[in-house]
Amino acid sequence: MHWLRDFIELFFPRQCCVCGTPLVDGEDEICTTCLLDLPEVLTAQGDENFVERRFWGRLPVQHATALLIFKRKSKSQRILHQIKYNGNEKLALIMGRQLGLRLSANGLFDDVDLLVPVPLHRRKERHRGYNQSLLLCQGIAQTFPRPIVSGNLVRTRHTDSQTHKNRIQRLENMKGVFAVKEPNALQGKHILLIDDVITTGATSEACWAAMSQIQGLRISIAALAVSGDT
Ligand SMILES: [Zn+2]
Repeated sequence: MHWLRDFIELFFPRQCCVCGTPLVDGEDEICTTCLLDLPEVLTAQGDENFVERRFWGRLPVQHATALLIFKRKSKSQRILHQIKYNGNEKLALIMGRQLGLRLSANGLFDDVDLLVPVPLHRRKERHRGYNQSLLLCQGIAQTFPRPIVSGNLVRTRHTDSQTHKNRIQRLENMKGVFAVKEPNALQGKHILLIDDVITTGATSEACWAAMSQIQGLRISIAALAVSGDT
């Protein structure tokens, strides 16, 4: 069927969803130049890791990281837009694989037992057709092999958009939003919570609030992107 694809591409060339240049054989959704030139983040750890710092004093995060720094009108924004609003499920898998490569190379995440996607509310997932955090998990698992546990941590309440809220309002808005169905399944585990974007950290904090009573549970966090400021 290769000839058929080539034929179709004569009329509808596949383009990089980030920069728009035509894709060549072996490239999928995003061109190699964009993949190599991601506005990326975080080789530093500890005090210099500003993703981890965002959670200090709020939840006992073991480690936290992100692949991209989210900036307006940048490649990172286009990537997130594709994944969240343009139905680009394939790109979510590709970016998940990239994040997984970093997690594997990093070393700090070696003792993670499980990948847990931040859940969407049922209604929202039905509307979008997928949960982008679960797709990221599936991509991550290809390069950072861990079992994915979805459906245990659930979102019990729909929340308004967080975009125009300040930090305190966001925290208020997120209270009691998440619940765990089977706490026993997470006992003694080190989970890696996967989110698409970390902004204030309110979502992760609310997830932790639903899990903090589980015995021996440790949490690390990885996201596709982190906002540069809050
Ligand atoms: Zn490109």
